[in-house]
Amino acid sequence: MPLGYFRTKAQALKQFTHLIDSIGIWVVYTRSDPRFVCRKCWNPDKRDADPACGTCFGTGFQVELQKWKVYLSNILRKTTPLESDITDVGFSNEQSIFVFSKAVDAPVINDRYFLVEWDEAESNIAKFGQPLRLLNIYRVTFIQPMLVDGVSHYISHTDSQREVINKVEPVLMKTGVARRD
Ligand SMILES: [Zn+2]
Repeated sequence: MPLGYFRTKAQALKQFTHLIDSIGIWVVYTRSDPRFVCRKCWNPDKRDADPACGTCFGTGFQVELQKWKVYLSNILRKTTPLESDITDVGFSNEQSIFVFSKAVDAPVINDRYFLVEWDEAESNIAKFGQPLRLLNIYRVTFIQPMLVDGVSHYISHTDSQREVINKVEPVLMKTGVARRD
């Protein structure tokens, strides 16, 4: 459904909640803890991390792997009401996608979304699902919060880290993803 379908921001937000609930997908999110830098790869001089790090998954910090249900889109047009205050950040990269998440799932820049194949059916993923295969990695490059009538959503702008999939996948496979209740 093109975003231009929505007439107002409030309508768009309501629709996105619905989209996440109805056709959203479960992804693995790397919740980083800014209090603890990664001992294995963090470079304090450059303030960067190894994108293929097997400890922090490239975030540079200790992480907890979480399950998030999100709505993914590769389209974010500037001509519709929803995007009226969106900057140009993130528009040029064909590899990028936009990740819509709810208020409880607040992203942080440089964290990763792992697009995975799960070992459980959709209805069981939250409780029991663990990843079988890593399909893509999206790094958060820019976060756009949206608040209308007290309802928060976040739009993560991302770029793909496809080139390190083969290095990250084995680490992901042996790291458990927390149960989501
Ligand atoms: Zn690291």
